Amino acid sequence: MVLTELSPIFMNKSFKSKNFENFKAENLNWNLVQSEMKKKLGLDIYESWLKKIEFVEEFNNYLLLSVPTRFIRDWVTSRYLDQILQTIKSYKKEIIRIEFKIIEKKERKDQGKNNIDQLDNIDDKENISFIKDSYLQYNRIDPNKRFDNFVTGSSNKLAYEASIKVSENISHYNPLYIYGGVGMGKTHLLNSIGLQLKKNNKVMFISAERFMYQFVKSIKNNDMVKFKEYFRNTDVLLIDDIQFMNGKEAMQEEFFHTFNALLDKGSQIILSSDRAPNKLSRIQERIKSRFSGGLVVDVQKPDYDLRKKIVQKKTSELDNLYSGQIKISKEIQEFIATEILGSVRELVGAVNRIVSFSRIYNKLPNLAETKSILKDLLNLVENKVTIDLIQTIVCKFFKISKNEMLSSRRSRYLVRPRQTAIYLTKILTSKSLPEIGREFSNRDHTTIIHSVKTIEKLKEKDPVMVDNINKLKNQILYNNKENEI
Ligand code: ADP
Ligand code: MG
Repeated sequence: MVLTELSPIFMNKSFKSKNFENFKAENLNWNLVQSEMKKKLGLDIYESWLKKIEFVEEFNNYLLLSVPTRFIRDWVTSRYLDQILQTIKSYKKEIIRIEFKIIEKKERKDQGKNNIDQLDNIDDKENISFIKDSYLQYNRIDPNKRFDNFVTGSSNKLAYEASIKVSENISHYNPLYIYGGVGMGKTHLLNSIGLQLKKNNKVMFISAERFMYQFVKSIKNNDMVKFKEYFRNTDVLLIDDIQFMNGKEAMQEEFFHTFNALLDKGSQIILSSDRAPNKLSRIQERIKSRFSGGLVVDVQKPDYDLRKKIVQKKTSELDNLYSGQIKISKEIQEFIATEILGSVRELVGAVNRIVSFSRIYNKLPNLAETKSILKDLLNLVENKVTIDLIQTIVCKFFKISKNEMLSSRRSRYLVRPRQTAIYLTKILTSKSLPEIGREFSNRDHTTIIHSVKTIEKLKEKDPVMVDNINKLKNQILYNNKENEI
């Protein structure tokens, strides 16, 4: 059954039983899914990766699966998640999401100081012992997502600082509401707050989806009293992705009461969402206004500097993890930081893929291989035409070296090619002016504008220039096809 509108009428018994009759349909047969994936993806992939995935539990519309290490989880999610989900959906179309839990196998424990892997045991039982087993799995705080490994830059500094404040001094900002797009670090921040505060407080960390699931289950089992007690007993309530509450009237009602009860007794509430409180759709006005009552901060897309810092940090973390055997070149790091413009999750995923590649093939990928490995993460246009490619082709065309092009020398035979390369970068990529400036030896964006304008003007009166530009454009676009692997 699809849980969309949960109106208060669900509290009514007869209605309730009728609607929850088919609540738990038959469980998915995981063996079937596995053998289907073996067929679809081939024995190699199956044996190396998919076989290690085990079924843990099925929820209303998502599956909890387990893998033995973080590495396998990252590899599988970055490469096969879509196919796995597709296969699962062919057996059970209600499943829309998969979650992985890392269940470390005993024998991995004695791998010396492999600290990151050991930290992967995510069930933390401290301070939540009063919770019944069934609730335990909803209160998962991941020890790997901490303040000390959260990289900050201008796009997330405010959210980070507010999170630190809340962790130092409960009720400083109450509630704290953090919003931003997918993969920007919201869950990481909530988790860090939870880790910090659970040292001295009863902490509850739950996604809105799970809150809803528990809520529905409690209604079904006539367990609402326990549900209420349970949530109202906590000192710190962290709710992730509250946008999922939209339209769920009954749940909103219950949440609102819990929310007020907690604020009244001085508990701290922290919420995350993919949008600002006033942009939440189908959520009651009074709830939105309570959400905005404390501090509202956003996390934005990482800018170039933050992307670079994150790539560096991730690279060195993984290098440490694999005892100094993974040295991702500066060139590749730079490539990732310049080309992967989406979320932090994608950046981290990109670094993980490079590392996986080098572990499997025992060598670091070159730039062409990197492009191929990261193909789906790269913006299509960006993927085809990189600044590097443009510079190389323009230099070759005008018979100058790249050093000359990137130098500050202003000889006429260098200035035109340089301006031409800048112009082509502007029209063939979606890079911003400051980004282009950076790629041309940190030139100011005004220089970039000047170059673009100069070439545009020249094109109007100089047929040779028009011809050159066309030839270069063809080469850049055509050459690129040959470069693809
Ligand atoms: P969201 O909840 O906003 O969708 P997550 O918190 O799940 O995003 O972040 C996605 C991934 O990126 C996680 O692995 C997280 O640890 C990592 N991450 C996000 N932001 C940062 C950051 N500033 N520093 C380090 N890792 C980050
Ligand atoms: Mg999240």
